[in-house]
Amino acid sequence: MERFADETDVVVVGGGPAGLAAAIRLKQLAEAGGKELRVCVVEKAAEIGGHILSGACIDPVALNELIPDWKEKGAPLNTPVTKDKFSYLTRSSRIPIPILPDVDEANVGSIYGDSGMPMYNHGNYVVRLGHLVRWLGEQAESLGVELYPGYAASEVLYHDDGSIKGIATNDVGIDKTGAPKDTFERGMELHAKCTVFSEGCHGHLAKQLFTRLQLREKCEPQTYGIGLKEIWEIRQDKHHPGTVEHTIGWPL
Ligand SMILES: Cc1cc2nc3c(=O)[nH]c(=O)nc-3n(C[C@H](O)[C@H](O)[C@H](O)COP(=O)(O)OP(=O)(O)OC[C@H]3O[C@@H](n4cnc5c(N)ncnc54)[C@H](O)[C@@H]3O)c2cc1C
Repeated sequence: MERFADETDVVVVGGGPAGLAAAIRLKQLAEAGGKELRVCVVEKAAEIGGHILSGACIDPVALNELIPDWKEKGAPLNTPVTKDKFSYLTRSSRIPIPILPDVDEANVGSIYGDSGMPMYNHGNYVVRLGHLVRWLGEQAESLGVELYPGYAASEVLYHDDGSIKGIATNDVGIDKTGAPKDTFERGMELHAKCTVFSEGCHGHLAKQLFTRLQLREKCEPQTYGIGLKEIWEIRQDKHHPGTVEHTIGWPL
């Protein structure tokens, strides 16, 4: 069965912070230059922000550049960090460790050479990243970005000369054995002048491109850490919005 194909200027794969920021910036630049630019974002989650689980403490430096009036526009950055605590835990006690303040206030919390990093979070915000991404999606849409949640890019398409032609989305309505169900629908092709891969770490299309285009040749191997998110219910009197606690030691 043939796939339906559509043409666009830019297709962005992945509607996370990176993909949406790219889409927003492109539309801002097009608007400033008086140019028509069609930008489409495909996102595999059923809704924008749906796969973004990180409860994060973020530095708003990039947001300040991208959408300087984010406060007026209602960005969900509601809890500024007011206090950082750093401790070494033993089974039965807590040993406080001092946090040195950042020398360079303009570069708060950055990994680039500040003495307090990354434990000094003043100027940062405690957010639910999924909410921020949903809000970024709304900003993107208001600029005319076309968002397609519920569509995973499953294949990179190439021109005859090997350059990237775009992506194809996955077929849907397939049963466990790989056979089509009544609800089967062929994926569609999105051809673009420029394709942006912003699938997050370990993106499966990006990994194919690493190999095909030797993108990681002469690069240091990528390193990864495992992040765990736990949501705790705590007593009201222990709840201090804006407090960030860092601990090492027990129980690890
Ligand atoms: C537990 C945890 C805690 C964290 N805490 C912090 C913190 O405190 N502060 C901080 O600054 N950062 C934190 N981070 C890191 C932060 O979440 C990431 O740096 C950020 O989300 C990266 O953005 P991204 O857009 O590159 O990728 P992602 O956020 O991973 O977004 C990628 C998007 O692409 C979609 N996608 C992937 N593949 C496809 C495909 N083939 N087709 C269509 N869509 C696709 C995904 O569904 C997702 O929506 C944390 C991360 C985790 C996991």
